[in-house]
Amino acid sequence: MDAAPDTDAMAGESVVVIGGGFGGLSTACYLADAGADVTLLEKNEQLGGRASRLEAEGFRFDMGPSWYLMPDVFERFFGHFDRSPEEYYTLTHLDPHYRVFWKDGDRVDVLLDMEHNRELFEAYEPGAGDALDAYLEEAERTYEIGMEHFVYEDRPRLRDYVDRDVLRYSWGLSLLGKMQGHVEGYFDHPKLQQLMQYTLVFLGGSPTNTPALYNLMSHVDFNMGVYYPDGGLGAVVDGIVELAEELGVEFVVDAEVTGIEGRYGAFAVDTVGGDRHLADVVVSNADYAHTEQELLPERKRQYTEEYWESRTYAPSAFLLYLGVEGDVPELAHHTLVLPTRWEEHFARIFDDPAWPEDPAYYLCVPSKTDETVAPDGHSNLFALVPIAPGLEDTPELREEYREVVLDDIAENTGTELRDRIVFEETFCVEDFADRYNSYDGSALGLAHTLRQTSLFRPPHRSNAVDGLYFTGATTTPGIGVPMCLISGGLTAERIADTIPDS
Ligand SMILES: Cc1cc2nc3c(=O)[nH]c(=O)nc-3n(C[C@H](O)[C@H](O)[C@H](O)COP(=O)(O)OP(=O)(O)OC[C@H]3O[C@@H](n4cnc5c(N)ncnc54)[C@H](O)[C@@H]3O)c2cc1C
Repeated sequence: MDAAPDTDAMAGESVVVIGGGFGGLSTACYLADAGADVTLLEKNEQLGGRASRLEAEGFRFDMGPSWYLMPDVFERFFGHFDRSPEEYYTLTHLDPHYRVFWKDGDRVDVLLDMEHNRELFEAYEPGAGDALDAYLEEAERTYEIGMEHFVYEDRPRLRDYVDRDVLRYSWGLSLLGKMQGHVEGYFDHPKLQQLMQYTLVFLGGSPTNTPALYNLMSHVDFNMGVYYPDGGLGAVVDGIVELAEELGVEFVVDAEVTGIEGRYGAFAVDTVGGDRHLADVVVSNADYAHTEQELLPERKRQYTEEYWESRTYAPSAFLLYLGVEGDVPELAHHTLVLPTRWEEHFARIFDDPAWPEDPAYYLCVPSKTDETVAPDGHSNLFALVPIAPGLEDTPELREEYREVVLDDIAENTGTELRDRIVFEETFCVEDFADRYNSYDGSALGLAHTLRQTSLFRPPHRSNAVDGLYFTGATTTPGIGVPMCLISGGLTAERIADTIPDS
């Protein structure tokens, strides 16, 4: 299934899309391609949502996503419009995929070369090379079945699951257990378990709250590989915006929506500047809770404030963008620094929220691959520490935490940065809330716990307002750039299928 409406299915319909993240951009493309007259209103000065760019003093930082994973999803997205990603941006296959430092001095590289990876696993635990093969074989099967039958196909009702596919593939039964137990079934060594579980940070979950079906992320990471679009993830945003313009989408930036009135065929969408946009259909890619709680009157909301308060949110993040003199030879393009007390890291996010004393973090150095992101002789680097959403975030706390992170980088990767920093900026809980209207300052939205996966995520179609739809990471399939692109197709398909009964 293509997860997109047929050409001309939307002819004659006018649509306002609120928010220019990947979900909003994707929905706009599909709807314009299906004949709708689409206007996209974005609050901020640039498009891309969490994939915004920060440019200063010759450095260009991707502020959010930096891993280009699941290249097949991008190919399928552009393919729907008879285009290919290469027409819009160039990809480099990264090797190593990433480097891992543990804080006991140990360090490994996960490479493109699977023989190397097998030997790496074997070195930690006899038999782990074969276990890796078996694990990845299952992850591949999960990916293939999962993508075709559960990701590209929207199943908003329970009865959509009680059908032949679930029975035929016996899919979803053992994989509904927790990731922790699943990985322990294959590997005993805690470091190998961590290598298979770190990908959960992409989903905003922990090994004890995320279902094992997300083992598919290891297929994504080991088998499919890690790519870098030249110019950074911002180049992908530019590519999709260019495609949307070719399809006729009109963009308005600096246009924060302040209210949505009306219903199918007669919507009025107001923005801060006092402009009013009329439309037959409205799609919100803005944070779901923000859209319902702030932009709609109470009687038109599907959920109460208590509902949003009771959800499990993916982490927020402390981000430190650094322009640095010279090279950072110890680091790879993608580097993870993992604490030996792994459980404590997740507890600080999900169970007992606090700024982590012994942080797990990710370092991104795109200047290793792309000389356009930093001035000559400099490195472009950012550190990302996942932290609990809603944590107190003040300039003083950021200043203190900056020191913790710089000390940790020096101690555990051997990279001294302090005397070489020529540009720096932080981004944290308050910024996620202010810049993106993100609930509780979460970086990613609703976590992928079992009770917030698939049909348990908020729906694409509002049950309270005819003609109002939602797209992006809070809906299905969920978090991550590829998932948001698919979400756009699912939302557009749902609109094309349901508007006639309005
Ligand atoms: C730090 C970080 C690192 C990440 N790393 C990766 C990664 O490496 N790989 C990956 O695949 N994914 C990654 N992700 C996740 C990925 O970026 C997100 O899941 C995805 O970009 C979210 O897209 P979205 O469609 O939900 O929209 P968003 O990006 O949330 O965009 C929503 C848009 O709506 C706008 N908006 C909000 N309110 C209003 C309003 N009232 N009026 C108008 N506009 C409004 C916002 O300004 C925003 O532009 C990362 C995310 C973060 C934050």
